[in-house]
Amino acid sequence: MITKQEIHKLLESYDQKKIKIATVCSHSALQIFHGARAEGFKTIGIVTKDKLPIYEAFPNARPDEFIVVDSIADIPIDDLAAKNAILIPHGSLVEYPKLRAEDMKIPIFGNRASLRFERSRSLMFDWMTQAGLKIPKIFKPDEIDRPCIVKSAGAKGGYGYKVVKTPEEFYRRVTDRNDIIIQEYLVGIRVYPHFFYSPFGKIGYPAGKGKLELMSMDRRVETNVDELYRTMSVDVWVDPTFRIVGNEPIVIRESMLSDIFKAGKGVAEAADKLFGGMPGPFCVELVINDELEMYAFEISARIVAGTNIFPTGSFYSAYSYEMPMSTGRRIAAEIKSGISLSKLDKIIY
Ligand code: AMP
Repeated sequence: MITKQEIHKLLESYDQKKIKIATVCSHSALQIFHGARAEGFKTIGIVTKDKLPIYEAFPNARPDEFIVVDSIADIPIDDLAAKNAILIPHGSLVEYPKLRAEDMKIPIFGNRASLRFERSRSLMFDWMTQAGLKIPKIFKPDEIDRPCIVKSAGAKGGYGYKVVKTPEEFYRRVTDRNDIIIQEYLVGIRVYPHFFYSPFGKIGYPAGKGKLELMSMDRRVETNVDELYRTMSVDVWVDPTFRIVGNEPIVIRESMLSDIFKAGKGVAEAADKLFGGMPGPFCVELVINDELEMYAFEISARIVAGTNIFPTGSFYSAYSYEMPMSTGRRIAAEIKSGISLSKLDKIIY
């Protein structure tokens, strides 16, 4: 991983009045550009030729400038640095580039060390445990004694996950057993709260030395598990699969906000201890069961695509901001505060 000193040296060479916000045209890029523009920043979109018409199609969210690349696996780091750009990480930037985000010599919003914890299942496990979250039990194949979800290696986003109930079913149905995880299948309602942690923010829930804001909340729509009632009702039986197709808003009982904030606070404070903190957006993926207990099965250490529902703010951000505040805009507002308070080094690595 490239050192913080190296990145901060590069950041110091930037003209602070001309900082631009850049990201890869994918995942939550429209929201990031839209929000950056609302805060007065110029934007750069790293785009492949085939996607260019999509990002040109939305006048209020198209970036001011495009850098066209052959593949989003190739991030034009030197070009970006020459243009005074801060790179905003999102799901596609974490998954696809040839060079890991941690190794890119370009200022990245947030703490790039968190991305390593997001990618590794064992580091994620340590993080969730230290955060004090209830987590699903993990099984070895021969110990399976209840419904379990088998998550394949690296494949995030639910693709290829299988639910099995016995060791025999596991060995029969799971043929690629490299780097898989077998997790207790959680029964309940999934909720994905979108947090924003600011080390110098003034509003929100106290966490560590800063404040934790609840920006919005969604739940995912996944094929085919989320439409099973329809297929079953016409007597078509399919194996549930969990590939994300989209997102829907969800608001939860106000009495449960206390547990939601405690989960977010635990994650932010454990991040402080484990890898020096996690300024910026993150999401704790939760299942709430019939006893109203919350179990966490994953943390996303950056903006999640569920925030795309709320480009003009949400039913939670309305209680914090007078203006329409998306997570994308909140990122830009934080960079703006970082510049004016001379604290960019606290939120960029
Ligand atoms: P993930 O890749 O961990 O974000 O999971 C993708 C999807 O699989 C989630 O959005 C859930 O619908 C489902 N899922 C993951 N882990 C569990 C679990 N332990 N119990 C039930 N469903 C899960």
